[in-house]
Amino acid sequence: MLKRLIYMHIDSPVLLVNPRLENLSTEMFELWDDCFSFPHFLVKVRRHNSCRIVFRDLDWREHSLDASFTMSELLQHECDHLDGILAVERAIDGRSFAYRSERAFVEP
Ligand SMILES: [Zn+2]
Repeated sequence: MLKRLIYMHIDSPVLLVNPRLENLSTEMFELWDDCFSFPHFLVKVRRHNSCRIVFRDLDWREHSLDASFTMSELLQHECDHLDGILAVERAIDGRSFAYRSERAFVEP
């Protein structure tokens, strides 16, 4: 059986097996998203303010976690990766791309 995995290390390591998003809020917020897939590139996206993620641990016990804003955005970003979607595909419009150098944040 195929498994989908998200590994995060926030305060401690967490492995989310077969995560799925639920209870996506209708309220959205905008942010400059970044990604290890393109480290110096930022994309302005819209994400749900809050969500619930349901997942299993390595012992196949089900868990859920309610998240808002930064954590909600991170979970949506990572679930997108599992679906093969990169943040660039979520760009709000053609001006939603910026380059971040070590000295400056350059918006269009
Ligand atoms: Zn990413």
